[in-house]
Parts: sequence; C-alpha cells; structure tokens
Amino acid sequence: MASVTLKAGRERPLQQHHPWVFSGAIKPTRDTPQGGAVVDVLADDGMWLARGFYSSASQLRVRAATWQDDEPLDATWLRRRLAQALALRTPFLVHSTSACRLAFSESDGLPGLIVDRYGSFLVVQLLTQAMASRTHEITSALVELEEPDGIYERSDADVRAKEGLPAQEGLLWGDAPPAQLRLRPLQPPGMANEPPPLLVDIAGGQKTGHYLDQAANRARVAAYCAGARVLDCFCYSGGFSLYAALNRAAALTLVDSSPTALALARANLAMIDTPPLVEYVAGNVFHELRRYRAEHRRFDLIVLDPPKFVHSQNQSERAARAYKDINLLAMQLLVPGGILATFSCSGLLSNDLFQKIVFGAALDAHREVQIMERLGHAPDHPVLLSFPEGEYLKGLICRVA
Ligand code: SAH
Repeated sequence: MASVTLKAGRERPLQQHHPWVFSGAIKPTRDTPQGGAVVDVLADDGMWLARGFYSSASQLRVRAATWQDDEPLDATWLRRRLAQALALRTPFLVHSTSACRLAFSESDGLPGLIVDRYGSFLVVQLLTQAMASRTHEITSALVELEEPDGIYERSDADVRAKEGLPAQEGLLWGDAPPAQLRLRPLQPPGMANEPPPLLVDIAGGQKTGHYLDQAANRARVAAYCAGARVLDCFCYSGGFSLYAALNRAAALTLVDSSPTALALARANLAMIDTPPLVEYVAGNVFHELRRYRAEHRRFDLIVLDPPKFVHSQNQSERAARAYKDINLLAMQLLVPGGILATFSCSGLLSNDLFQKIVFGAALDAHREVQIMERLGHAPDHPVLLSFPEGEYLKGLICRVA
C-alpha cells in the first residue's frame, strides 16, 4: 500500500477525523503515489493515522475516508458507505417522485462523490481523481442499491479543474432521463404542507439539474409571502416564487441572467391555478436592483440567492463587497417592515462574516434589521461535526424596519 508521511506536528486535524490533508503538511518523498490511489497516512513517527484517496494534482492531496486500519477502501467499502447514506435519507423519500441528495461527499464519508436522486433517475458528480477512476464501481453499487431507471453523470463542476480532470457529462447506465421531470422536493419532517412538484432538467439544468439544498428554505420564506409583492433575485427555476405563489403572494418579479432558467421558472409557475401577477426579467441582478431603485419601485419581500461568489480565499474581499452591494440595494427597495431572505452558498464565507456583511448593509441603508430565522441546508445535506467545511449554505430571514 502506498503511503504519505506527515510533517511533524501536522497530525492533529486528521486525528480529529478532519478528512483533508494538504500538500504542505506532507513530507516530500521520491516516489509519489498515483492519482486516485488508496494511501495510508502516517504521522512523522510512523504511526498509522488514516487511509484515504490521493490526488496528484490538487493541493488537497489526500482525502481520508477511514480511520480504521483494518478497513480497505474497496468496492465493498463503497457499497457499505452508500447504503448508510441512502438509509439516512429514507425518512425524506416519501414519494416515488421525490428529489433528494443521496450522497454528500465528505459529509457522508464519501469524499468527492455526490449522488442526487430525481424520481427514478440518479445524477452523480465525480469530483476527485479517485472517484472519477471508480465510475464503474460506483455505477454498479448504485444500480444494486437503488434500482434506478438511469444514471447520468454531471461532473462539470469547476472543482474538477483543480483535480486536473476535464468536465464530463453523459449517460452512465440505463435510460436517458427525459428533458424535464416533475418532482417533489423532499418533505422535511414536521412540515405540514406537501411540497409542490418542480420541473428538473437533469442534462441541461444547472448543477445536477436543481438546487436541492434550498428545498426546506423555500417553504420557510413562503410563510412571509401572503399578500406580498415579492422580488425573487437569482431565481433559477423559480423555486422560491412557486412556493410564494402557493402562499398567496400578490405579485412576483423573477430575475435571472439565464433565459433557460427563466423558461423553467415560467413552466413551474404555469402550474398555479390562480397565479399572482408575474413578471420575468432576464438581466443582471446588480443592474436590475439599481434600476428599481432609480424607478422608486418598492417590494414587501426580497429573496437574494446568488451563486457562489467566493471560489478561493483571495476572492473573499471582492465577494464581501458584492454581497454587501446586493443586500444594501435590497434593503433600500423594501418597504418599512419588509422581509429580506438573504443567502450565501460560499463555503469559504463564515456564518459570522455573512451576518457582519448584512449588518454593514443595514448601517449604510440606515435601516434597523432583526433576524427572524437562520437557515441552512435541507436535511439531505448533513454536516459532519468533524468537517465544518461541508456547511456552505447560510441564510437569514430578516425584518427590515
Ligand atoms: N434561487 C434558485 C437558485 C439560484 S442559483 C433556486 O431556488 O433554485 C443562482 C442563479 O443565479 C442561477 O440561476 C444563475 O443563472 C443566476 N445568476 C448568476 N449570476 C447572476 C447575475 N449577476 N444576475 C442575475 N442572475 C444571475
């Protein structure tokens, strides 16, 4: 078995079951393991610490996947871990037409592997050299455990580049998914109303076709929407707007830069029997918010759900300015007592810093802001205590006086 040895004093995070070993913590050696290989990680004194997968390209050199020295990282391990991850989701999959994240990478002990279920189809993202070289093992385990109609790969996330891997998409097994599936997002325990079905475009949509992480939050925000003029910024397929419409919002303005996303949103809202006044705007949120301010338009509730602004630590300052900009503009567009539902899906931005940015916006807008609710991922995106990096989505529902 290939191994890497840590520099003296660098073993603590791994001993606490944090799965990441960066290149700077590893002692240089002449024979380096092959990309994707299983490696043992040893302490400077030779003590066995963990076993994981090696990357020859990423600064994130090893992703540990077991802390038991008698556990091989083979096909049996993969199947067992997947089965555990699937069992965790069973309470949420109340419909055969449910959509749900089945495997969430490190947070499910499966570093580099994302599996989403959309009804009878599975979508996988293989984000590391190790997972990319195990496509066949992953496919067979999923076929056996889930009996899907088809498995589709959407490994086109930007993190693949850090692994030296090209983007990869296409059918891996079974039937190709239809262009649009109508699916129910998971129903969080305790949520009274059944979630409405949403259209998902597996092959042509963003990410794996849908933003599953916001499933529970759409219902939470909708609770404030009755009678409201709602501005849904970065709307994608209109998830927040659909829930708002079902909760009797008076008017909806949906903004997204992608016309394809707006077409999906339109199809989603077409399902409502008595739709509110709806306006679709293909544009840049940063510009549209300024235009509304110049036009003295006002809204009762604004959703800000931007894409990830922070991709690496050196972008955090610029990203902080961008978050502050849209939050400040949104506060200026809200009527006194209006509601701001503001999100960040940048894992590198802490909850604390996000809240400070929103506070900065409130100070500049001269508005008093109260946090009503703090939001995170839906429960099919568990967070490991030993791996807080897995928690990327944060949101605040605020009342802006
Ligand atoms: N709120 C959505 C998910 C948003 S994902 C949901 O609940 O499903 C982020 C969206 O922002 C994407 O649809 C992307 O097309 C859009 N986007 C990215 N940058 C943008 C910009 N500057 N202006 C408008 N839309 C943008």
